[in-house]
Amino acid sequence: MRPLAYVRPLDVREAVETIASTPNAKFLGGGTNLVDLIRRDVEHPDTVVDVTALPLNEVTELADGTLRVGALVRNSHLAAHPLVRTRCPMLTQAILAGASGQLRNMATMGGNLLQRTRCHYFYDTAAACNKREPGTGCAALTGFTRNHAILGTSEHCIATHPSDMSVALSALDATVEVESIRGRRRIPIADFHVPPGNTPQTETTLSHDELITAVEIPPLAVARNSRYRKVRDRASYAFALVSVAAALRVEDDRIAEVRLALGGVATRPWRATRAEAVLVNGPATEESFAAAAEAELVTAVPQADNGFKLELARRTIAATLRGLLPRSTA
Ligand code: SF4
Repeated sequence: MRPLAYVRPLDVREAVETIASTPNAKFLGGGTNLVDLIRRDVEHPDTVVDVTALPLNEVTELADGTLRVGALVRNSHLAAHPLVRTRCPMLTQAILAGASGQLRNMATMGGNLLQRTRCHYFYDTAAACNKREPGTGCAALTGFTRNHAILGTSEHCIATHPSDMSVALSALDATVEVESIRGRRRIPIADFHVPPGNTPQTETTLSHDELITAVEIPPLAVARNSRYRKVRDRASYAFALVSVAAALRVEDDRIAEVRLALGGVATRPWRATRAEAVLVNGPATEESFAAAAEAELVTAVPQADNGFKLELARRTIAATLRGLLPRSTA
């Protein structure tokens, strides 16, 4: 058993000063991922800085309509919030598609953004894993790859990003606010998660001493007509094989505005910008949806066991967009 120190600061300043002076410390929120990682010896901080007493647990509406979500807002609370349900239903649906009710009651906004891959080999400390131990290799590349990524992979890591919520936040152009002893900064969600490249152990642009304090979701009219569709091996408590977050506005049978992001297929929440470019200003037809999916998947690199994700992604993209058409019964 490894010794583990525990501290519980009462304000943000104290929290960021503590982490800045403690090199091998980790912030602890709901603990739904970090505690598992510590128990399984995948992560071994010397100190956990429990941030649950910080005043970061409110959802507020700013003057311009932006929703500001404190980093400690629980997933279940956010999913049920009336402004989220009406303004961006894809976010409610994405959260409710993740984990179980008990986990959503514990998991926080900030922690969900930082949850780590569920690659089996990452959790198996007897297996080679560049993400867990840089430079040791990747057991998945010669192993069972059914759940692994086809987009954004590298020769060093092919693990999928596990968060449903982050996929919706990607489509919604959210911004992550972080704080450290150096001050506050804002990171567009598109720049928050990074692909594995040569350094799969680095998953975000967050520094060790930075604390997520809030996520801001801009007021997007298109998001009122949005949906999160998740395909998985069982109806609940399973990670996505493919998921799609989409928002659509159609005028005179043409696509006036669209937001599209994918989960379950990529090494990070995957904003489908190629597909969006094909769709916008085009006809709202099955042919357009198919062409958009094709454009997005052109860079996909399937592994031995996950080639099925290509067709599944094509169909899920089309089904999700179809379901958002005016008067659709899909
Ligand atoms: Fe590790 Fe990534 Fe390979 Fe999984 S895919 S074993 S997380 S390096």
